[in-house]
Amino acid sequence: MNFDFPQLLKSLQLKVTPQRLAILEIMRIADTYLSPEEVQEQVQQRANGKVGLPTIYRNLEELSAQGVISKILHPNRQLYYYFCANRDHHHHFVCLACRTVQDLHDCGCAEMASQIDGQVEFQIMQALGTCRRCCTQNA
Ligand SMILES: [Zn+2]
Ligand SMILES: [Zn+2]
Ligand SMILES: [Zn+2]
Repeated sequence: MNFDFPQLLKSLQLKVTPQRLAILEIMRIADTYLSPEEVQEQVQQRANGKVGLPTIYRNLEELSAQGVISKILHPNRQLYYYFCANRDHHHHFVCLACRTVQDLHDCGCAEMASQIDGQVEFQIMQALGTCRRCCTQNA
């Protein structure tokens, strides 16, 4: 799938910078979630120069705050990020063994919101575990 990242960033009022585009392209190609350190390594390879980890962190945070990428809430409390091309409302099942991410389409969000006396500002729902392939391999 070809993604128009400059257009996506503009539509979210985020500045289009070579670094952001490099980060997004790296994350799009990856079929697993990535740590900021892994993103940094690949950005540096592309740029053929040094890019500070704080810069990578800041960009990842901005992109995830706007919903361009998803934050993975890992039990080891390290931060990981994942780019999902699916722009529709959905959630993720994250395999902690092989780092793949599956889309979950059925969710009770609308129903949950209807039970809340107030307004939802943030909603975090994510399932983590072991995917079928990894379960079979370890059996
Ligand atoms: Zn797996
Ligand atoms: Zn997804
Ligand atoms: Zn939902």
